[in-house]
Amino acid sequence: MKAAVFQEANKPLTIEDVDIVDPRVGEVLVRTVCSGVCHSDLHFVDGLWQLPSACVLGHEAAGIVEAVGDGVTYVKPGDRVIMSFRPFCGKCYYCLGGRPNLCSDPEINAAAATRLQWKGKPILQFASVGSFAEMMVTSENGVVKIPDEMPMAEASLIGCGVMTGVGAALYTAQVPGGAEVAVIGCGGIGLNIIQGARLAGAGKIIAIDIVPSKLELATKFGATHTINSKDTDNLPEAIQDITGGMGVEYAFEAIGVPDAVTQAFAITRAGGTCVVVGMHPLGSQISVPGPDFLQEKKLVGCMYGSTRFREHMPKLVDLFLQGRLDLTSLVSRRLKLEDVNEGFRAMKAGEVARSVLEISSL
Ligand SMILES: [Zn+2]
Ligand SMILES: [Zn+2]
Repeated sequence: MKAAVFQEANKPLTIEDVDIVDPRVGEVLVRTVCSGVCHSDLHFVDGLWQLPSACVLGHEAAGIVEAVGDGVTYVKPGDRVIMSFRPFCGKCYYCLGGRPNLCSDPEINAAAATRLQWKGKPILQFASVGSFAEMMVTSENGVVKIPDEMPMAEASLIGCGVMTGVGAALYTAQVPGGAEVAVIGCGGIGLNIIQGARLAGAGKIIAIDIVPSKLELATKFGATHTINSKDTDNLPEAIQDITGGMGVEYAFEAIGVPDAVTQAFAITRAGGTCVVVGMHPLGSQISVPGPDFLQEKKLVGCMYGSTRFREHMPKLVDLFLQGRLDLTSLVSRRLKLEDVNEGFRAMKAGEVARSVLEISSL
């Protein structure tokens, strides 16, 4: 099959002929229809995170089940699915505690290391997905079935950015109705935090970014106020002006830059919650003032929007089909697999909410 292979940081991906295994016990073969190009893929291309060897990136995808291995009961050939980049084992401490997004089963990663071969050597299928390729093999616990009326470009985005962003608001922070919320960073994740807060019925949703076009888009997704942080050297004051001197009850950092967390924590009011959603570079440290914890401020992490995939992804599909979740405006451009490097360029330049690769047709 054709796949875009990542070989080295700061080098373009190249289109190669890669072999993929037949689905083994409990696994499914999925034909990739659409894959988003996400910032987390870019982190590896830029060398901020490291991968062991050549690999196939891409982790935000939707496709059609082509074949299933022995023992698979959840899906059958022809089913449409969203890929999950955290397949769950169903048996570990986290899975049994209702937090499959934190599943730590090492067998899942081991399996992902043995599914692809290139030039006779095994190469890693990133995050058990590897969607910059025509086909994907994963555990049946790595797919979520969706109805046939769900369009595939929109479905693919639920696989990472939408589930992470909307989930950060609904499930990690559990934003209540009327809450005052701020989101730092209005890219693919930030826009979805904003619409998650809107779905939760937040009262004020303050979008913060340095790119005017992103702030415009943020308004479309539900922001009630926008701040271009280039125009102010005192963000906490600008936030206080909007919140009656209080700061926000929920602040979200959606860039992956340590200083942005410091800022997000600074604009969180006493008793409030600051959620770190961005993927921070390996080795980075975050700095916040220790005495602030006497104000019962909470600083919390977020993995995949604290989702229970099989429950929450179909709910997001439903909200989209009802017209209450905007996925279509996130699809800024549709590209071919061969254009994946252009997708990265456009993302770095801040030109797009998402580029979606259309890898095969339905
Ligand atoms: Zn992602
Ligand atoms: Zn588990």
